[in-house]
Amino acid sequence: MDGTMMSRPLTLDLVFQRAAALFGSVEIVSRRPDRTISRTTYGAVIARAHRLAQALVAAGVRPGEPVATLMWNHAEHVEAYFGIPLAGAVVHTLNLRLHPDEIAFIANDAGDRVLLVDEVLLPLYERFADRVPFRQVIVVGATGPVAPGRLEYEALLEGVDPSTPLPPLREDDASGCCYTSGTTGKPKGVVYTHRSTLLHSLVLGLPDGFGLSASDTLLPVVPMFHVNAWGLPYAAAMIGMKLVMPGPYLDPPSLLDLMRDEGVTIAAGVPTIWLGIRDALEAEPDRWRLRPGVRMIVGGSAAPAQLITDFDRLGLQLIHAWGMTETSPLGLVSRVPHALRDAPEALKLSLRAKQGTPPPLVEIRVRNDAGDVPRDGRTSGEVQIRGPWVTGRYAGIDVPDRWTDDGWFRTGDVANIDEHGFVQLVDRVADLIKSGGEWIASAELENALMCHPGIREAAVVGVPHPKWSERPVAVIVPKPGQRPSDDALREFLATRFPKYWLPDAFVVVDEIPRTSAGKFKKTALREQLRDHKW
Ligand code: ADP
Repeated sequence: MDGTMMSRPLTLDLVFQRAAALFGSVEIVSRRPDRTISRTTYGAVIARAHRLAQALVAAGVRPGEPVATLMWNHAEHVEAYFGIPLAGAVVHTLNLRLHPDEIAFIANDAGDRVLLVDEVLLPLYERFADRVPFRQVIVVGATGPVAPGRLEYEALLEGVDPSTPLPPLREDDASGCCYTSGTTGKPKGVVYTHRSTLLHSLVLGLPDGFGLSASDTLLPVVPMFHVNAWGLPYAAAMIGMKLVMPGPYLDPPSLLDLMRDEGVTIAAGVPTIWLGIRDALEAEPDRWRLRPGVRMIVGGSAAPAQLITDFDRLGLQLIHAWGMTETSPLGLVSRVPHALRDAPEALKLSLRAKQGTPPPLVEIRVRNDAGDVPRDGRTSGEVQIRGPWVTGRYAGIDVPDRWTDDGWFRTGDVANIDEHGFVQLVDRVADLIKSGGEWIASAELENALMCHPGIREAAVVGVPHPKWSERPVAVIVPKPGQRPSDDALREFLATRFPKYWLPDAFVVVDEIPRTSAGKFKKTALREQLRDHKW
């Protein structure tokens, strides 16, 4: 028999139409650059996104053309997320934390000619404006007249002819574009489609994914220029969640004020954000009374087990997930399976601190030279992934060795997999330390060090060594008023790691340098420590 089901293309307009019809009055709250709070609704945002789409089409934006954004997290950026794909075009979020040279490279590489830019980010734009031939620059959030040659966003929306037709959409049309942050090479473009975005949103919402519901209020701390805020704005529209957008203010008190005042039930961000939130909550336990059971998605770098237990004690739940720009990003999420609900707490905690298992439709394998590694939680290999929201290539550049001959994406992450199917990342291939011919996983050492009561943060890098070729050096940020001795730290690590893994030196710093996405900038650390005296 042939299937009898309708073949409805999986395009994002479906999500927006339904959100307008069913969640029209649900709020989208934004913190503005002047710190005031503004409120709008899905109904208003989707109507304005439609007008933005018409304005872009009327201005000559062609199907498949990228439209760049240089914006913080706020309602107008949500309008761009919805409106640009409705115009058949591709939202290309520029990362405002990058150096202007790098932004110019990425905008040129993508072929961006139209830009939506926050008024407060015009000084940044001006640092690369002469290097990208934009034909249209639309200023969002203008507090006064815009400079000649630029368009003002509100005026653009008001001037739209409401009869402007929008192009038909196909599910494999491009809808969004992000560049890899270039931690391991030049930034490369990844282009999402309507179909990949829609399927990714569906799976994000599953109970054992992020467990999203219309009764949730979501705070995406993760910037909208970092892998589409992990796809959350689209999932929010699909599910009808109230959205709370932090604007430029990502410091713990500003975030905690929003979480308390807006009744946030779920938030998402990198570990650094949650470290700061934990410290603030511990320092002033009575200042912010959050709803019990608030969930916080953590990803981008490993969440130390200590952070998970600290939040458990505070009555808040960290949910650990793993992903990449190339994987939309959801590739793994760590949820204790039903069969282990009565397992000892220590086992459950160790599973929660792993990166987890793949969601439906995603396949993961961990391979080394001998093939798939055994599910013993010890033997390591490279994580390989495939699925409908995993990229099959990079835009405009051929990098064939990132895919296996049988079509899996090679992540460059090294991991093991245990009997429950939980994947645990031990390092990035590029960060592994080779000492006397043996491999040492820097990330494993870091995660262990961050569980020491006297350590707030730790990064471990390989430093050239005359005898061993490389030796591990730990860069640590102790907790206020503490400085555990080198010997005490080595003793702490010696219970878990072989002797040759223990760092030869511990360098105390006030702050560890970070990438634009808040990860440890190991290249900078290696550079700083290159001439270390042994
Ligand atoms: P870049 O690769 O340039 O840093 P991405 O934002 O795409 O940019 O980062 C993806 C990488 O981040 C992964 O390959 C992995 O190394 C790391 N990562 C993401 N989530 C986690 C996690 N939960 N634990 C450890 N590492 C993670």
